[in-house]
Amino acid sequence: MGQAPRLRSVCVFCGSSDAADPAFLADAAALGAALAGEGLRLVYGGGGVGLMGACARAAHEAGGQVLGVIPGFLTSRERALESVQTVVVGSMHERKMMMFEEADGFVVLPGGIGTLEEVVELLSWRRLDLHAKPIVFHSPGDFWRPLFDLFQHTVERSLTPPSFLDAWVEVDAVEDIIPALRGAKRRGPDAAAAAAQIT
Ligand code: AMP
Repeated sequence: MGQAPRLRSVCVFCGSSDAADPAFLADAAALGAALAGEGLRLVYGGGGVGLMGACARAAHEAGGQVLGVIPGFLTSRERALESVQTVVVGSMHERKMMMFEEADGFVVLPGGIGTLEEVVELLSWRRLDLHAKPIVFHSPGDFWRPLFDLFQHTVERSLTPPSFLDAWVEVDAVEDIIPALRGAKRRGPDAAAAAAQIT
């Protein structure tokens, strides 16, 4: 097992809704500014809407490096930001793969079905030991509790191994996200080698 890579780039999965709780939008912006302040590059879905737009704008305005990855058909619907470096890819699958490859760690902010889809795939790769990159859920007001309960339910029914419950770290304050990423236990094979196994 090799050395886990140093944390340089952080992928943020989060909601694209502008109608989200203003506190969630403010937290997303605070995370973007904090990433910039720590010299960490933000990798995100490329849109200018909802939490993702708030996070990316704040990171960019604070002088941080930002990489957006967006499929061509979503550039107008998710209002891709012109002010940041954006790669336009051909499909949702390509988007997720590039976001995965470009990041050393992942943050999951409140989101909807798209956020769920992205993080469940990431966790399923972890379950298969295909990567060991840290995953931190920001769960203000226990936002993600129903999802954690569902995971626990599958463990209780012997469909998922109990060790899976160590695959992520949960925090409820924005300022705890980056320390949790840095301190999150990295299990499984070396992340870079593992990434090569995912096709
Ligand atoms: P939502 O949480 O539904 O607001 O979606 C958040 C982000 O996830 C949006 O940028 C969506 O385009 C994205 N998304 C939704 N489904 C997928 C998918 N299958 N693959 C990659 N990204 C997705």
